[in-house]
Amino acid sequence: MSHSETLRDTDRCVKCGLCLPHCPTYRVTRNEGDSPRGRITLMQGLMSGALTDDAAVRRHLDGCVGCRACEAVCPSGVPFGSLMDATRATLIPPARGGGLVRGYLLRHAGARRAASGGLRVAGHLGLGKLAGMMGRGDRPGPARAAAYLPDVAAPPRFPPADAPAVGGRGAVSLFAGCTAETFDGPSLEAAARILGCLGYQVSAPAGQVCCGALDHHAGRTRAAAGLAGRNQTAFAGVSHPVLCLNSGCRVHLQAAGGFGDRVTGLCRLLADVDLAPLHLIDTPLRVVFHTPCTLRHVLGEHGLMEVLLRRLPGVELIPLPDNAFCCGGSGSHMLTHPQMADRLLAPKLDALADLAPDVLVTANVGCGLHLAAGIRRRKSAVPVMSLAQLIDSRCASPPAS
Ligand code: SF4
Ligand code: SF4
Repeated sequence: MSHSETLRDTDRCVKCGLCLPHCPTYRVTRNEGDSPRGRITLMQGLMSGALTDDAAVRRHLDGCVGCRACEAVCPSGVPFGSLMDATRATLIPPARGGGLVRGYLLRHAGARRAASGGLRVAGHLGLGKLAGMMGRGDRPGPARAAAYLPDVAAPPRFPPADAPAVGGRGAVSLFAGCTAETFDGPSLEAAARILGCLGYQVSAPAGQVCCGALDHHAGRTRAAAGLAGRNQTAFAGVSHPVLCLNSGCRVHLQAAGGFGDRVTGLCRLLADVDLAPLHLIDTPLRVVFHTPCTLRHVLGEHGLMEVLLRRLPGVELIPLPDNAFCCGGSGSHMLTHPQMADRLLAPKLDALADLAPDVLVTANVGCGLHLAAGIRRRKSAVPVMSLAQLIDSRCASPPAS
């Protein structure tokens, strides 16, 4: 469907306002322009020519975190996520150019690894603090980016492609992506260990690139399509499940990325799998769990996440209050809209301070980065883990990878 055909769906909005209490940005500003209904009205104004693409219109439209909470509750079935993507691609197109990060690093694994090595060194040398001293962390720029430096991880090491299967569960391919490969290597390695122990043959096909979600949601549809094509090539001939640990990337791979139901998440993959081979420990652990918007509002699998966590012995499980509202991470939103991102995060950090858990667990790397940066800012020491890391940490004797 073309973008202009998609945008006809703005007519489905009956302006009832039922979505307003579910919109995180409207909850913060109480400005109609920051609500789903207001944004749809702005789209209609741009399409009719009654409005022009000026800074105020852009501010309201660009401020959408893309959580799709409005879509989940809309009685008229307004496909808000698609409307926003089409709006960014046509009505408020992104500036030309693109910058080093989105233009090159997202697409090239070698360059990305070199850059993440540099960022790790910068983090160890304390250059993040220096960058922080040179600017304001509540404005887009290097000082803000520096707040996320401590999470840069070493590239993951996977089992060789021809590693023998230790059980009869068949094969699983890991989707590493770009952000996950740079920031979440330990989660990918943990997933490979868990799955190997459960009897899966695990591999990570070479040649895979960024899922394309960041480009797609920013209106750079051609760049996103190029990345989708490269991933299709990397995973050509793979008929077994493709595991994507991050709900945000998974949503994109599933639909625009062309993977369909072939791509799955850890809580879905393990839903019917006996965890006994993991020899899980039952030492008491208080775990607060965060459910990313993509898992809750788009995939509808937040219940599966909770079910999987409840299968871990010794774990006391507490939902993060306000879980139905976006944490503000939202792809690159935490870097481009730091003030709103931090306002959305604040109630979650307050709740965490009250609950004082042993661990905070989430199912999306971007949310994890944003939560971890906020926790550091408050000088708290609650570790943030992915589902795979948490399960791996509960294995009595994880097998060597
Ligand atoms: S988007 Fe849906 S819920 Fe929101 S005002 Fe329009 S019709 Fe009502
Ligand atoms: S996607 Fe989220 S932030 Fe955007 S209008 Fe809908 S509820 Fe609000």
